[in-house]
Amino acid sequence: MQTIAFIGLGHMGLPMARNLLKAGFNLKVFDLVQASVDELAKEGAQAASSAADAALGADSVVTMLPASRHVEGLYLGDSGLLSALKPGTLVLECSTIAPESARKVHKAAAERGIELLDAPVSGGTAGAAAGTLTFMIGGEAAVLDKARPVFEAMGKNIFHAGPDGAGQVAKVCNNQVLAVQMIATAEAMALGVANGLDPAVLAEIMRQSSGGNWTLEKYNPWPGVMENAPASKGYSGGFMAELMAKDLGLAQEAAQVTASSTPMGALALQLYRLLLKQGKGQKDFSVVQQLFVE
Ligand code: NAD
Repeated sequence: MQTIAFIGLGHMGLPMARNLLKAGFNLKVFDLVQASVDELAKEGAQAASSAADAALGADSVVTMLPASRHVEGLYLGDSGLLSALKPGTLVLECSTIAPESARKVHKAAAERGIELLDAPVSGGTAGAAAGTLTFMIGGEAAVLDKARPVFEAMGKNIFHAGPDGAGQVAKVCNNQVLAVQMIATAEAMALGVANGLDPAVLAEIMRQSSGGNWTLEKYNPWPGVMENAPASKGYSGGFMAELMAKDLGLAQEAAQVTASSTPMGALALQLYRLLLKQGKGQKDFSVVQQLFVE
């Protein structure tokens, strides 16, 4: 069985790494937080003392880091991880980062004979734990074929989005739609309730009508409408508003590069920044509901 170096054991990385262990891969793990490394070591992974130590002799590397600067900081430069990897190593970079940043890392990898895919995910921490993530992948199809068993141990839907950086483009497009739908749903819920409707009745009518969308199906932002939604648990768990703001910012950066017109995405970003200013960045992104109620 091949050996995988897994770097970045946060909310997403830890459960993803756990699924690789369950699938029988040999795992070497590293995170700046020692407690996360120790936790996986207890479950059978080999603890590494640095990213380079984890990657030593590994066939593949998986990274799940917060943002572009962490990914560029880890891989690039004379002492970066790419310079420590042997040619032919497969790198699956799963963080959500700027498409431009992903292309920069792709280029540096190709110059060293390293096969890299940008492979951001959708599905949240629940999908990471259940092994049902969606992967949106940018890079060569032949490299994806080689990496498929690793992706399949962590996810259910594995999409080839296109060439280098395409996975990141798909991810920011998807999250922009999600944010806009969430805001539109929250606005309509507040409007209906202010005009005398029962929130559960309104939610069900819209869900089954032409306004129906993913947030009405799975994630209603009005507290009490869906028992298991973050809105009914004080907007805890789920996907943090500050991560949504980050992804909306990445969408705006991508729009800037191509001079694309994205007014809905721009407005969504402004509303999420407002939430961050209100100290709600660590709440689930459906907390946007509170902008429309007293
Ligand atoms: P997180 O902050 O919980 O985890 C990131 C981990 O990376 C941390 O444990 C941190 O210590 C570690 N780290 C940072 N720099 C490092 C370095 N140089 N070497 C080793 N470890 C390092 O973040 P997360 O929620 O797991 O998200 C990871 C990525 O996945 C982000 O890009 C995020 O946008 C994306 N994502 C998150 C979700 C979600 O629901 N949380 C869903 C989809 C995508």
